[in-house]
Amino acid sequence: MIKRLTGFQPTGNLHLGNLLGAMRPLVEAQPTTNSIAMIADLHALTMEHDPAAVRANTLEVATLLLAAGVDPGRTAIIANSQVPEHTELHYLLECTTGFGEAARMIQFKEKSAGGGPVRLSLLTYPVLMAADILVHDAEQVPVGDDQSQHLELARTLALRFNARYGDTFTVPEGIRPESAARIMDLSDPTRKMSKSAPSPAGRIGLLDPPETIRKAISRAVTDTVGVVRHDPDNQPGVSNLLAILAACTDEKPGEFTSYGALKREVTDAVVALLEPIRARYAELDPGYVREILAEGQARVRPAALATVRRTRDAIGLLN
Ligand code: ATP
Ligand code: MG
Repeated sequence: MIKRLTGFQPTGNLHLGNLLGAMRPLVEAQPTTNSIAMIADLHALTMEHDPAAVRANTLEVATLLLAAGVDPGRTAIIANSQVPEHTELHYLLECTTGFGEAARMIQFKEKSAGGGPVRLSLLTYPVLMAADILVHDAEQVPVGDDQSQHLELARTLALRFNARYGDTFTVPEGIRPESAARIMDLSDPTRKMSKSAPSPAGRIGLLDPPETIRKAISRAVTDTVGVVRHDPDNQPGVSNLLAILAACTDEKPGEFTSYGALKREVTDAVVALLEPIRARYAELDPGYVREILAEGQARVRPAALATVRRTRDAIGLLN
């Protein structure tokens, strides 16, 4: 079966976009792929962070994955910090990465602009991401636009290493699962819904109660056209609501005579999708979730260790 790695940042605020764009495709692909769901807690240390929040968010993401239907019997759920082979491979890959290659990454430029202190790990973040992927011999990596440049770097590093030191890594492919929806921000539908957007107004949180969801959708930005139709260029807000409805119900939306009627139907569909997830989340015990992470780690480590040993050997280290 194809090996697929899906990554999540433990930034908290998981939203409907994460569910429809990443978690649900992961759940749906479980029977046909050999998947790893990785929480990138090491990546959370690349910016100013609160230790307690990183720990809590890592557990929250793992719990949400379980609540959303990830089956730990099929899919290993891991935190990258708990699989030390990630960091070992990170160093070895750093020794094959140019400073300029890392410094020209758009995300590094964006996140390091603004004049505050910049952590060295922010610069090398894409190399760690390459290690996250290559250490598991992942063949497929679902990526959004914001990560496609990093995925390209992972491919470049794998190809270069293989050419220079002998065939060592599987070269990963960035994919967009067919069922993955792209959900836009409710208050600015030209931007994607995002965990790190400064205002929560454009987001529907996966654990939001129905009343919060209703308010968020009723305030969603629309337009003055007055006709409900899918036209992302001219009616991005209405088109986003139609896309949310289609993704939640798995059906082509019907006709609507007003924006109000559309919003009511979207609210019902989102609440119906999220309520069971919220209920399962509340039942999951943190101790159990930690056990699942320990099991995931134990499951993936032998193969990760084999990759590291192969890499050490190729690059000139004693095993
Ligand atoms: P951040 O703002 O911290 O980058 P994020 O909202 O982009 O957070 P990630 O943790 O970077 O979330 O992404 C987790 C997964 O969710 C990725 O596979 C990503 O492509 C997907 N994803 C993120 N936002 C959306 C969205 N608005 N619509 C669909 N998929 C999304
Ligand atoms: Mg992101």
